[in-house]
Amino acid sequence: MSRIVVLGGGESGVGAAVLAKVKGFDVFLSDNGEIAGHFVDDLKKWDIPFEQGKHTEELILGADEVIKSPGIPSTVPMVKKLEAQGTPILSEIEFAGRYDSAKKICITGSNGKTTTTSLIYYLLKNAGLNVGLGGNIGKSYAYQVATEHFDYYVLEISSFQLDNCYDFHPDIAIITNITPDHLDRYDYQLENYVRSKFRITRNLRPEDCFIFDSDDEITIDHLNKIILSAKRLPFTQKGEVEQGAYLKDDKIIVKYEDEECDIYLKELALGGKHNIYNSMAAAIAAKASGIDNKVIRESLATFQPIEHRLEPVLSIKDVLYINDSKATNVDSAWYALECQTRPVVWILGGKDKGNDYEVLKPLVKDKVKAIVCLGVDNSRIRESFEGMVGSGNFVETRSAEDAVKEASKLAAPGDVVLLSPCCASFDLFSSYEDRGRKFKEAVRML
Ligand code: ADP
Repeated sequence: MSRIVVLGGGESGVGAAVLAKVKGFDVFLSDNGEIAGHFVDDLKKWDIPFEQGKHTEELILGADEVIKSPGIPSTVPMVKKLEAQGTPILSEIEFAGRYDSAKKICITGSNGKTTTTSLIYYLLKNAGLNVGLGGNIGKSYAYQVATEHFDYYVLEISSFQLDNCYDFHPDIAIITNITPDHLDRYDYQLENYVRSKFRITRNLRPEDCFIFDSDDEITIDHLNKIILSAKRLPFTQKGEVEQGAYLKDDKIIVKYEDEECDIYLKELALGGKHNIYNSMAAAIAAKASGIDNKVIRESLATFQPIEHRLEPVLSIKDVLYINDSKATNVDSAWYALECQTRPVVWILGGKDKGNDYEVLKPLVKDKVKAIVCLGVDNSRIRESFEGMVGSGNFVETRSAEDAVKEASKLAAPGDVVLLSPCCASFDLFSSYEDRGRKFKEAVRML
């Protein structure tokens, strides 16, 4: 019996271990840290041997194949050893793909993955298809392949998951956009990160679709360098395209083969220029999946905002509080500011990943009246923006509660208080979800 070792006991690792067990492999799971209680329960329930707090070489190095969780960098000693002895290292997505014949719509990119993935899932569901949602969202893909049967999957796939994909085959692949992020995991080389995103296209066949943002220079530059046999379906807000999606007057026009669908911008449920891109990508994927225009229009009009992504929380004394805690990089915060039509009290800060704040300055000048920092080290934010709003309108805080209180003092009726932090959350919070929820609690306590 061949032996599969899974490294990492989170959502993806446990899912992969369950699938390996169901498929009759000799499975072992090893996690160098602590495994969360509910995952320990799952492993016991499925009778899967595991260890935590260590990697025992004798139990790992004999594997025929290793499934590595995306959170584990390929630089860790155990992974290096496995590579040196030639053991194949796969991602959970690659492994699960071997046992799944469903049609797969796969989404990667720097920003907009979750939104676009959720939109497409909603569209396919509304069309009455038997569809699963997975990857970086909710239950892992592998766990679902082990326990469910779907005709379609909509999968959000991060670049870390793509790094160990080889034969995985999407029917429709989407790259939402590419902006520098996570470069620490790619030797600080943008090219490596771009190549990793483009791995989503490597097994596309002529009958498959590749959906991409043709306004995104990084995407286009790379696309010009590679051979791709799939149908190219760009989306753009700058010109017209023969196939794909573009803007005409107050509508999105989607063209796929001989079909056309138009959608009024004012009917889109999600606001902001970035969500026009996301809606375009989703509408093309839906058309390419044979979905009716009426279902596409209705779905894009009724989709509910996802938590922590420009999520309206409450309006108090005519000040609207918005939770965009998931904006952990400059590009996403740019779009959050861009779509504001009211004066903004902006809450930002956290763990800076080497941000270049320069591109935000015109928007700050135009829209931001006051800044509340929410982070341990705010020096780079102070350098960049204090002069623009004035020191009386620049405050530093270290808890969501204080940040909200200070913001409420600085805001006047008609303003927006926007948490769109530009930074990771780990200096003060356990995750962006934790930061977003504490922000919402603090707003409700006002
Ligand atoms: P991801 O899953 O790629 O992190 P999300 O859909 O969760 O993307 O959105 C993350 C953040 O990026 C949110 O602040 C959201 O408002 C913003 N965002 C969403 N779509 C886009 C886009 N197409 N371009 C830039 N920013 C976006």
